[in-house]
Amino acid sequence: MCSKETFSKLDYLTYQKLRRWANRRHPNKKKKWVVNKYWQTIGEDHWVFATPQEGNNPIILIKHSQIPIVRHIKVKDEVSLFDGDLVYWSTRMGTHPEVSIKIAKLLKKQKGKCAHCGLHFKPDDVWEIDHVNPKAKGGRNAFNNLQLLHRHCHHQKSRFDMVGMFDNHPVIEEPCEVNISRTVLKTSQQGDLLA
Ligand SMILES: [Zn+2]
Repeated sequence: MCSKETFSKLDYLTYQKLRRWANRRHPNKKKKWVVNKYWQTIGEDHWVFATPQEGNNPIILIKHSQIPIVRHIKVKDEVSLFDGDLVYWSTRMGTHPEVSIKIAKLLKKQKGKCAHCGLHFKPDDVWEIDHVNPKAKGGRNAFNNLQLLHRHCHHQKSRFDMVGMFDNHPVIEEPCEVNISRTVLKTSQQGDLLA
């Protein structure tokens, strides 16, 4: 149902209630007197529930149909962050019992986004820790040389990292794979020594 119709119906129901209230309030007055006391003509509208227009600023009961209709726009990329999920809380808190500390810290540092494609991680994404400067090029294991990427983004970057380096024996960086899909999480508590 369109909001406009709903609002008109609400206005009608409100009017009925007010009308009954006003009539009860003045049982000895004529209906017309009651109407004139509580309903004013303002602009084109003869049925505005308002204080009498003796002053210039009547207090008006705004009608539902006067409220501009604002359609809700979803910010798609943000939605997953507010589902109360792992990614969100790890990002907020920098730590989460089910996510290794290293990953949680990376998530926080990267504000929940993949360092390669810039999109937010979703709970079911498979992510991997990448060495910004690849180990094959002398990159270290230090935290500031680590970043969290989608697995597919990691693969892309690794291919790019290796271009021209080992023409005869291409070496792909060993992925430190972390899969946080729920089934894996249940068993990963104990073995989660990655951090
Ligand atoms: Zn990515």
